[in-house]
Amino acid sequence: MIRIGPAGSAGLGNEKALEKINELGLNAMEIEFTYGVRMSDSQAKSLGERARELDIALSVHCPYYINLASKENAKIEASKKRIMDSCQKAHLLGAGYVVFHAGFYQDRAKKETFDLIKKEVGDLAKAIKKNQWDVVLAPETTGKKSQFGDIDELLRLKKEAGCEFCVDFAHILARDGEIHYDGVFDKLKGMGHIHAHFSGIEYTEKGERRHVLTEKSAITPLAKKILERKVDIAIINESPDPITDSVKMKKALTQ
Ligand SMILES: [Zn+2]
Repeated sequence: MIRIGPAGSAGLGNEKALEKINELGLNAMEIEFTYGVRMSDSQAKSLGERARELDIALSVHCPYYINLASKENAKIEASKKRIMDSCQKAHLLGAGYVVFHAGFYQDRAKKETFDLIKKEVGDLAKAIKKNQWDVVLAPETTGKKSQFGDIDELLRLKKEAGCEFCVDFAHILARDGEIHYDGVFDKLKGMGHIHAHFSGIEYTEKGERRHVLTEKSAITPLAKKILERKVDIAIINESPDPITDSVKMKKALTQ
């Protein structure tokens, strides 16, 4: 199945955004806790109920200030708390995937960073199980070369730490300076459902600069591969106009 929808409410507020998404024939939405987990339990429950009625699949994006490989223990603990708070709301929302940017290499080797993040993600996965929350951790493929999270690292993390991950195609392009969809989907074979992000992106040799509007020329090659390979996927658009760009994506996928 293909699901498409925006990251965040495009300024409408989550309740109104759900109705708008439904009117436009979209069927996914990522709730953004960008600057903090600010949502009451009752709001999360009622939002989740409405999304289920409309058959809109919800996911959650954790706050940005997360570094599970920080050199300061207090920062690691604060990061884990932000992820756990997001997971608690995601459970009430009925949102399966909890997306986050896992951390930074700083001056560490990639392997050392991997081991640190693996330990923390493993602990988080255990805590989720203990709480019986129906959510999965989804660290994201990141857009900067200084950030942990290329696709190979995340494939290995999934295997070894018991998480899923989020494939951000725009970030892969920004990180590598190019993207070959066949190569990416070959690596993702056997994943079953894929939770993905997509938008236009501006980047330099260091990687991501910012998300921009999603041009048709960027949408077409991805849409073509998804249809050709019959990929089971949810595509969350993270551009500055995520609802309009989700509609563009839908058009490309239903032609
Ligand atoms: Zn993303």
